[in-house]
Amino acid sequence: MALRLFNTMSSQVEEFRPLRDHEVRMYACGPTVYDYGHVGNFRTFVAVDILRRFLRQSGYKVRHVMNITDVDDKIIRNSSREGVSVQQYTAKYEKAFLEDAAMIGIEEPTLVRATEHIPEMADFVAKLVEKGFAYRTDDGSYYFRIAKFPQYGKLSKRDFSGMLDGARVDIDEYDKDSARDFALWKAPKPGEASWDTAIGPGRPGWHLECSVMSMRELGETFDLHAGGEDLVFPHHENEIAQSESFTGKPFAHFWFHARFLLVEGEKMSKSLGNFFTLRDLILKGHKPSSIRYLLASVPYRHQLNFTFDGLKQAAVSVERLRNFRLRLVAGSFPSGASDETRSLAADTIARIKAALDDDLNTAQAQAAIFEMVRQANAAADARGIKQDDVAPLLEALTKFDEIFAVLDDDDAPKMKRVLQWAIAEGREKEISPELRDALQSDQRSDSDIEKKVEEMKAARTARDFKTSDAIRGELADAGILVEITKDGIRWRRK
Ligand code: AMP
Ligand code: ZN
Repeated sequence: MALRLFNTMSSQVEEFRPLRDHEVRMYACGPTVYDYGHVGNFRTFVAVDILRRFLRQSGYKVRHVMNITDVDDKIIRNSSREGVSVQQYTAKYEKAFLEDAAMIGIEEPTLVRATEHIPEMADFVAKLVEKGFAYRTDDGSYYFRIAKFPQYGKLSKRDFSGMLDGARVDIDEYDKDSARDFALWKAPKPGEASWDTAIGPGRPGWHLECSVMSMRELGETFDLHAGGEDLVFPHHENEIAQSESFTGKPFAHFWFHARFLLVEGEKMSKSLGNFFTLRDLILKGHKPSSIRYLLASVPYRHQLNFTFDGLKQAAVSVERLRNFRLRLVAGSFPSGASDETRSLAADTIARIKAALDDDLNTAQAQAAIFEMVRQANAAADARGIKQDDVAPLLEALTKFDEIFAVLDDDDAPKMKRVLQWAIAEGREKEISPELRDALQSDQRSDSDIEKKVEEMKAARTARDFKTSDAIRGELADAGILVEITKDGIRWRRK
């Protein structure tokens, strides 16, 4: 079976076939770096990451490009309020964004920055003017004339036939009801960042940057363009208008949009007190792996309700998976193989793939791995797992984790970095006792612990129980619980 994806352009689930045989070219609208990323932003970025990882697992080479919007209305407003340059202002938040993305297991795409492509954007505008799709106003701004692009509205399925030709809008984000000629290029205003270019001084509009940079990196027509659902109109509609007028060719074939999340059942907003950046959640003591797991738990087109109960549940789920892997790795099993377990592992791999092929049904993929863990744990309790069953079970876990990326226990060092950041920023007050506790019991790295456990095993094989007990005591003091079961030795953090 092949991947089927919902395409916002056709409003249907379609078979996804890239234009070139083995390669997928995809572009995702990235963050506007004017503040720390919030959990809603990362809902969309995790969804795109899962798509990317699954495409790769399906055998494609993936070229994934993401822009960093490092100049826009909000950035200009905030940087001038703080009295720093746009560059100084955005550098801090771009760095934070990349750290946060890595923290929740997002593989880094090829990054392109708006401010590094200004001359090309100006050339693009000049071409659109030449072709009659854009015009200059007296102040030196340039607008796209949407009346010249009759298909305007084809992505958002809005009928703009009755619109007013020549009505203009120059803010980056605007209301769904106002289809207007939008700003491609904004003339400089006093005190605002601007660039001298072939079409005069000014700065690019937000929509323009994505058209120019995506086509530069991926070609005039590419496979897939992604973002959160709020970008359908006007942002993506405007990108299509600009790009297709410019090239006369289709822009992106697939349009992939992630549904906005709710937090505790409500739209996230600062005034409701339910607005959380990723760092806020870590400071409250939650693990990056729990956050990623929760964000991935609801298929991208469904509304995810982000709750703290859900986050705790996600932590338990991740722990169960990690413990199961440890049981496989550290356990000792009777020799031989069991057909039942092997087919359980093979079926699980097939079920995960079928679920993800079905418009990235991440919930079903997670359900499949849990069913495997449940059955395999029961079999292991009854000594039904044999030595040669371990590899196939591990393979199923690995396939799952190539997409979900939560099995490696590297939460502690990541959380520690956020704690240090909070101290450096003078935000100690936000560090919760839960975070301090979580780090206290987590002073040792996994490989350290693994080494100790190996020593314990060797001691026990040599029937040197005194040494084994001493090591166990030492680990207990460091907050590591070592369990000696009939399958072998397992450990976990208390
Ligand atoms: P921004 O930094 O505002 O340009 O947003 C970056 C990405 O996050 C875009 O793809 C948005 O569509 C997405 N996004 C913003 N808020 C949410 C939300 N509440 N839920 C899901 N995605 C969001
Ligand atoms: Zn964009």
